[in-house]
Amino acid sequence: MDNKIAVKVIDPKKSDRKGKNKPPEDNRVGRKIYVRAVDGFFTQIRQRINWILMLGFFILPWIPYGDRQAILFDLVEQKFHIFGLIIWPQDLVLFAALLMISAYALFLVTTFIGRVWCGYTCPQTIWTFIFIWFEEKIEGKFNKRKKLDQQPLTLEKFWKKTLKHTVWLFISLITSLTFVAFFVPVQQLYIDFFTWNSSGIIVFWVLFFTFCTYGNAGWMREIMCLHMCPYARFQSAMFDKDTYTVAYDAGRGEDRGPRSRKKDPKELGLGDCIDCNLCVQVCPTGIDIRDGLQYECINCGACVDACDDVMVKMGYDKKLISYTTERQLEGKKTHIVRSKLLGYSAVLLVMCGVFVYFLMSIQPAKLDIIRDRNQLYRISSEGLVENVYTLKVLNKTEQDLVYQLDFDGIEGYQWNGPKNVPVKAGEVLTLPMSISIDPYNLKKHIAKVEFSATTILPSGERVTVKEESRFFNEI
Ligand code: SF4
Ligand code: SF4
Repeated sequence: MDNKIAVKVIDPKKSDRKGKNKPPEDNRVGRKIYVRAVDGFFTQIRQRINWILMLGFFILPWIPYGDRQAILFDLVEQKFHIFGLIIWPQDLVLFAALLMISAYALFLVTTFIGRVWCGYTCPQTIWTFIFIWFEEKIEGKFNKRKKLDQQPLTLEKFWKKTLKHTVWLFISLITSLTFVAFFVPVQQLYIDFFTWNSSGIIVFWVLFFTFCTYGNAGWMREIMCLHMCPYARFQSAMFDKDTYTVAYDAGRGEDRGPRSRKKDPKELGLGDCIDCNLCVQVCPTGIDIRDGLQYECINCGACVDACDDVMVKMGYDKKLISYTTERQLEGKKTHIVRSKLLGYSAVLLVMCGVFVYFLMSIQPAKLDIIRDRNQLYRISSEGLVENVYTLKVLNKTEQDLVYQLDFDGIEGYQWNGPKNVPVKAGEVLTLPMSISIDPYNLKKHIAKVEFSATTILPSGERVTVKEESRFFNEI
């Protein structure tokens, strides 16, 4: 079964037009795209998803948990707080698993339904649509904006442009502060920033992310999607003929051309496309989906809404442009269950299992044993074989705790050092100590031994962490 989508070469000089009206209005002037607003089923879905994601983004840093914020990636203290969970650098394997899960989830979704991540959830798309919304409110609809840009500087143009950029910068600043608030306690961040008391590094990052948001959503827009986002480049490796993407039904739409609503297109030798170009005008990446599948398409569905609207007005069936598959367009049946999807699903499941395993194995304490590297062993004045160690006890909880230390593996040992040690919340206690053993009890040159640290959590739960080491003697 051939799963590859054939490359179609477009000749821009060739016109499929049959009508004699003037060419439909495009949404480009030079490299700038003037996106026309659209409403419809997919636009509504996108807007709702965007609202949920935006609310999540802006509200999350303000949610408290105990005496701190619920989500705080504290880079200074090197610990990530996610509600009751504290992730230390030692647990960063969790993030590796999370990244793998995200990557395979993206591969799976892209294989099934194309670039919906880009069209519905990508921050670049969300912020671009927000910026376009404000642009439209201030400067008017897409054709008015086009005219405004072409006219010389007037007072009206000056105040509209000033207002637009001020609003864009304000949104960018709030976005940047919110983003930084995932790494710095939110209330202190806002108080310090607006009272000019923030440190230089905080000011730098706030201004940096403000500039990035303003530049990406205000100026770069589709350039980010087309030329800078790596996902646009490798997505074609996941697409096949059974991938659902936004596509134009050329069999039904061609030959395209304008006509009266009352005329039968068949009598005119026309298909259902009236060549109104609305699908191009609403496209945020400025492409014509009638040219076929293109890497620029972010699967946002705006052209589907625009075309459905036209079809309803003309009294034709909807879905001249729709989410469909290349196979369906060839008149064949789409294969939902296929090896590529099953493969991605299997790896995704395994990675989820690994993630849950690591998550469940996070311990509220960690014990590290470092042997004295200068001397394998020494003989004490009492004739005992002595090994020197440095114990590092990490209290990963947010309460001060007392840890009881212990040793196992060889009978009749002598512990030289404290056995009950208090460790402050989130701190590491470094304890040099030694173990001495009568040579009579030592049977091997190197013996495997085990240290342990036991504590009682405030919940009453008893936790023991263990770490292996070696005991050397002179035999
Ligand atoms: S919106 Fe529909 S009818 Fe209009 S040009 Fe696009 S495909 Fe043709
Ligand atoms: S072609 Fe349609 S779905 Fe693709 S980016 Fe443009 S408007 Fe969105």
